[in-house]
Amino acid sequence: MSDTSKKIWANSGDSHFLEPEDLWRKNLPARLAELVPRSEKDPDGLWETVHIDGMSFRRKLPTGKSKEFFEASNRAPGAADISKRLPDLDQEGIWAELVFPSLGMWSSSFRTPEVLREALRVSNDWAYETIDKVSPRLISTAQVSTLDINDAVTELERCAEMGYRAVFMPVTPHPLQKDYNQDDWEPFWTAVERANMVLAFHIGTDPVDLSTGGSMGAVYRGPGGAVLNYTETTFGGQRAVMKMVASGALDRHADLKVLVSEGGATWVPFVADRMEEGYRQHAMAVRPKLKRSPKEIIYSQVYASFQHDESAVAAMTGMGYNNVMWGSDYPHMEGTYGHTQETLHGLFDDVDPKVRERITVGTFTELFPGVPAMPASASV
Ligand code: MN
Repeated sequence: MSDTSKKIWANSGDSHFLEPEDLWRKNLPARLAELVPRSEKDPDGLWETVHIDGMSFRRKLPTGKSKEFFEASNRAPGAADISKRLPDLDQEGIWAELVFPSLGMWSSSFRTPEVLREALRVSNDWAYETIDKVSPRLISTAQVSTLDINDAVTELERCAEMGYRAVFMPVTPHPLQKDYNQDDWEPFWTAVERANMVLAFHIGTDPVDLSTGGSMGAVYRGPGGAVLNYTETTFGGQRAVMKMVASGALDRHADLKVLVSEGGATWVPFVADRMEEGYRQHAMAVRPKLKRSPKEIIYSQVYASFQHDESAVAAMTGMGYNNVMWGSDYPHMEGTYGHTQETLHGLFDDVDPKVRERITVGTFTELFPGVPAMPASASV
C-alpha cells in the first residue's frame, strides 16, 4: 500500500513556457521584425487586427469565457517567469520537465522562409539561455522551420551543438510543405537521429487556420463543440506517428525516438494493431516494405505522455507498451497544476511501484539521461 501522505515526485514529458510577446520584434533586424506577428487593437478593445508576414486578419479579442480560458491557462506564477518556475514545480512535485514553446504556434502562418528561420533562431537562443541554463531539471525543445527542410536541418544541427536534446515538431508540417511521409523529410530524420535528439510532437499543433481568426483547434461548432474540439486535438499526434512508421522513416532510423506529448497512451497499442493488420492483410499493396513490423517499430521508438487518463497505466500493464510517460501540461488548464499530487496518487497508489517508477521517472530519463536525482519522497 502506498502512503497517500507522501509526495510523489514525477518527471513531466509535457510542459510549456510563455515567451515575452515581443521576443521576435525586439531581436530581429528591422526588415524582418516588421513581418512577425503584430496586433493592433481597436480603440473599443473588442477586436484586433493581426499582421503577419505581409498578411492581415481580424479577430475578436478574448472576452468572457475565452478570456477566462486564456487567463486560467497561464495562471501559474512560473508560466512566464523563470525565477518562479522551480518553486512552482517543487510545490507540485514535478521534478524534471520537457518544456515546449508558446510563440511557435504562429509558425504555420509565416510564408517567407527567411522570416520563420530567423524568428525560430531567436527563440532557440533565448530559450536555451533563459530556461535550460537555470537548472538541469528544465529541458527545452528546439524549434525548426517546417516550411523549408534545409533550414530545419541547419537549425537542428546548430541547436544540437548548443546543447538541445529535443526538437519540437508540429503534428502537421507547414501547409506549403510536403507531408511527413514524403522522402523530402529524409535529410531531417537523418539529422535528428545523428544528433541524438528526441523528436517531440506536441498534439494540437495542426496549422492555424487564419480564416477562423487564427484560433487553434476550432473544427466543430454547436452542441458539444468544446469537447469535440478538445478530443479532436489528439488525433494529429497519431497521424504523425502513422506517417513516420508507414513511410519507413522510423524503420530506416532505428535510433530515432519519437515522443507524442499530451495525447494519452492507450492509442499507441491500438494504432500499432491497426497498422500491423494493414501491413499484413494488404501486403500486396504495401510500399515500402519494412525490415521490422509496425508494432515492433512503434513499441520500441514511440513514447507517449498523458496527464489525467485513467486508462493510460493499463497501456503498460495490460497491453505491454512500456513507453508510457506522465506529463503535467504545466501550466495549461488541461494539465494538473494545482492538483498534481491528487492526480498522481489517484493514478498510482494502487499500482506496482515498478510500474509507477517507469511511468513517472524511468521513461523520461530513458529519453533524457543525466537528469539530477530526485529528492527522496517526503511528507507533503
Ligand atoms: Mn502540453
